[in-house]
Parts: sequence; C-alpha cells; structure tokens
Amino acid sequence: MSIRIINAQSTRQLQRGFASWTSYLSNHSLNFIDGKRMKTLDPTQEKLNLEEPATGSILGAIQSSGRGDVDKAVKSAVIAQQEWGQRSGPEKRDILMEAARLLRNRKEDIARVEVSDTGKPMWEAMGDVQSVIDSVTYFAGIAPTMCGQHFTLSGGSFGYTRREPLGVVAAIGAWNYPIQMAGWKSAPALACGNAVVFKPSQFTPFTAVILGEIYQEAGLPDGLYNVIQGGAETGNFLTSHNDIAKVTFTGSVETGTKVMTSCASGIKHVTLELGGKSPLIIFDDCNIDNAVKGAIMANFLSQGQVCSNGTRVFIQDSIFDDVISRLVKHTKSIKLGDPHADDTRMGPMINAAHANKVMKMIERAKTEGAEIMCGGEYITIDDSKMKGKFISPCILKPTDDMEISKEEVFGPVMNVYSFKTEEEVLNRANDTKFGLASGVFTNDLNRAHRVAAKLQAGNCYVNNYNIYPTELPFGGNKMSGIGRENGTITVDYFTQLKSVYVENNDVDCPI
Ligand code: NAD
Repeated sequence: MSIRIINAQSTRQLQRGFASWTSYLSNHSLNFIDGKRMKTLDPTQEKLNLEEPATGSILGAIQSSGRGDVDKAVKSAVIAQQEWGQRSGPEKRDILMEAARLLRNRKEDIARVEVSDTGKPMWEAMGDVQSVIDSVTYFAGIAPTMCGQHFTLSGGSFGYTRREPLGVVAAIGAWNYPIQMAGWKSAPALACGNAVVFKPSQFTPFTAVILGEIYQEAGLPDGLYNVIQGGAETGNFLTSHNDIAKVTFTGSVETGTKVMTSCASGIKHVTLELGGKSPLIIFDDCNIDNAVKGAIMANFLSQGQVCSNGTRVFIQDSIFDDVISRLVKHTKSIKLGDPHADDTRMGPMINAAHANKVMKMIERAKTEGAEIMCGGEYITIDDSKMKGKFISPCILKPTDDMEISKEEVFGPVMNVYSFKTEEEVLNRANDTKFGLASGVFTNDLNRAHRVAAKLQAGNCYVNNYNIYPTELPFGGNKMSGIGRENGTITVDYFTQLKSVYVENNDVDCPI
C-alpha cells in the first residue's frame, strides 16, 4: 500500500491550521512496523509530550515501545531481510534511487517538519534533507558494485570471498540531526542487503517515520525499514535483542558505553558516533576572513548542538586581537528567531532542560574565571509566539584546564585560546579524551598537511569546517567513537565476508 506523506496539502498549509498540523505530526510519532504506522502494544508504557522547541507548543506525544513492540519490529525485519538479501544490486539500486527522487520532491515539506521538531533554522534543515538525498543516491550506486575477491590456489584449487549482509541492523539516533541519522544509517545498511530497525531520539520522532513511508512508496518491501519510538529502555530492548546482528549508534559517550556493553554480551558488530571537543587552529598566515567564517560555521550550526563542532578555537597570538574582534562582530550580528523564517540564522535550544545545562556550564566557566567576550545569555525574541529557550551565541576565553575546555557543552559556546608555536598548539589541541574532528586554517601547504597528520581526530578540515560530503568517511577516534559513516568504507561496516575454498583435487587424508 502506498502512503503519501502530505496528500494534497503542503506542510506549510498544514501548519497554518495548527490542528491539522499536529494531527499530521501525531500520526508520524507512532511506530512504523512492517509497513504500517501503529500504536505501541502496551498502553501502560511511558508517554512523553513533544514540545516544539521554538514555541513551547505541544505538538503531540510519543508512547515508549515495550519489549513486545521491539520483538514485532525485529521479527518483521528478519523475515523481510531473507528475501532482500538475495536481491541483485541493480534491483536494490532502483528502489533506493526512487526513494531519493521522492525525497527530492518533498525536500521542503520534510525540512519543515524537522524545523518544528528540532528548532534548527530552515536553511539548515534543507541542507540536512539534501544530505539524506545524497546518501541514498550514493549508496544506491554502491549497491551493484559489491563484490568479493578471487584467489588462485595450488593444484588448480581456488578460493573466493562473498560479501554478505549482516542481517538486521539496529540503528539509534540522537536528536540533533534526526532525518540525517535515519538516512545515513539506513541507506548503506539497505544497500548492503540488511534490514533496519531505527529508534529515533524520543525528542525527535517524526521524520524517521516519514522516511519509512517514502521508502515504502519507492517500492522497498515492508519490514525492511521499521521505526520504534521510545527512550533508553526501548533502546536497550533493541541492542540486547538476540536477532540483532549489528548496532549503529549516534549519541553521547555515556550512552555509547552502555550500548557497547550491551553489544559485547551478544558479540554484535557496533559502530559508535559519539561526542567531541574538537580543536580548530588558526595560524597567522591564513586568510583571516575565511578563518572567521570557518570558526562561526564550526560553532553555531544548529545552535551549537553539533558533535563535530570545533569548540576550542586556537588563534596564533600575532592575530589574536584582530580575529577576536571580527569573530565578536560577526557573532553579535547573527539573527536568532522563528526557525521557520527565511532570514533566521539560529533558532532555539532543543528543550529547557538542555538549555539550562548549557547555561550552567557557562556560569561555572565564569566562576572559574573565563572571560566572556559576547553572548551566553537567555534572550527574548521579538515575537510572542517564540516562547522557547534562545541563548545568544557566546564566545569565551577560558584556560585549558577549566571544565568548559574539557567537556562537551553541546550549545552555542565557542572557546578561544591564544598560542605561539605549532608544536605548542598541537600538544594543547590533542590534550583531550575526544577525537572526532579538527581543523586548521593556514596558507602554508606543508604546514596544513603536517598539522592534519598530527591532529588526533577522525576528521580534519583544512581551510573550512563542518562539511560532510557523502564520499568522505566520517567518524571519531579515541572516545569519540568506533567505525565510520559515509564513503565506500561503510560497506565494510554493514557486510561480512565469507571465504569459500574450492578443491580441484582428491582429498589428501594422512590420518
Ligand atoms: P544520548 O546518548 O542521550 O541519546 C542518544 C540515543 O540513545 C537516543 O535515541 C536515546 O533514546 C538512546 N538511548 C539512551 N539510553 C540508551 C540505552 N541504554 N541503550 C540504547 N539506547 C539508549 O544523546 P543525545 O542527547 O540524544 O545526543 C547528544 C549527543 O550525541 C552528544 O554527545 C553529541 O556529541 C552526540 N552526537 C554524535 C554525533 C556523531 O556523529 N559523532 C552526531 C550527533 C550527536
């Protein structure tokens, strides 16, 4: 059965009538199992209200899924995967290509839902949906390329490898990039012949279900992509389920540790995309205009709620004052407001609890002696509907040993530090338990590559920051994670090898 996501009305029209908008959203906060949206089986499970970050309006509620719901989703995935895993690459490609086409047609509609759900501004949400279109298209193209190797062995015998799917993949997402995580995890998993059970964050349930409907409309068989709503307990039911072959997780180090522990007891494959405290180094020989723009992009996307953010900005002492004055000027000019408005550059924090956590970290940094250069305050938007928590983007100057220099804030806070030499800054940049991203601004070609090689991180940006092309693997070192997303390497994370030995002689049996 084909389910259209928006029927005759565009999302913008739906939004104008709040009742129809919330009714549309409520229908997409349900589970999506075996091709059908459905309520959780156990009505006594916890219910969580969904507040729109920008306005504080209640958009709906999700009901956590119990073990029975997880069983049902995994069971449908196991059955669907058996047939899907046998399909040829071109058959899988055609379905994924069609899904990419449908996503492209509904890009703005999906982005609108994402804006209401996360509070991120529309210009960013459009980019997020585009990154899913890119991923689905890319892995559609990869599907027919999957192959093994052939080995010539002695006496005419030979061997070959087969690249086989893992089975059912459990995918768990954080709340800052809901559609992107659903797409980045499901597209390669499906292209490699697996089935997926995706659990979005309990704060951002909608777009994962919309993606499921799009896959279905594109011709993906029911059961291959399921969505289970819920929080930590539901996530644990999923990671500990016996029929799950792999878990791909995005979230905090704390939860990632629990997920890995749960996977260890079942010897499951695991990919972890976790937090960061990434350095961005600005040398005095750089193009300063680009470095300032790079530092802004490294810190204030999605209100600073981005794992790869370059939150520790090291600026060479000879240009420190110049860079700071330009950074402060740019930061003060950033327009915060209704995330649906075209001219809004930054929106509200995801919720009050998280905003308060960010503000407490800023307050503690101040108490420890960090100098505030701008922002770091709750602000009121000149629009009575905007009742959410808006924090003015903050630049502060701490020392290396303060909590704010060591721990992830996950908010609009850029730390700035002055340094003298390359050797000194590399030592300070690498003095962290995290290793997700890093960046360097310099016009010295040799230095750029030397520094990129020495930075202890899974990603390094030279003369830009926070760019995620689908072709380039993304992931963390140290406590920022294990495994990679994007790029052809992803095939290794969603398949397993079988080695086949073929004898061409009589069996030699000396015993
Ligand atoms: P979180 O760890 O609180 O939750 C992430 C997901 O895990 C949610 O879906 C949650 O319901 C689920 N979960 C919670 N407990 C679980 C358990 N015991 N078993 C299984 N699942 C469980 O993270 P968050 O607050 O949603 O997201 C913010 C964090 O995510 C930040 O640390 C950020 O750096 C990180 N992040 C990393 C990347 C990356 O690619 N490296 C991208 C985005 C966000």
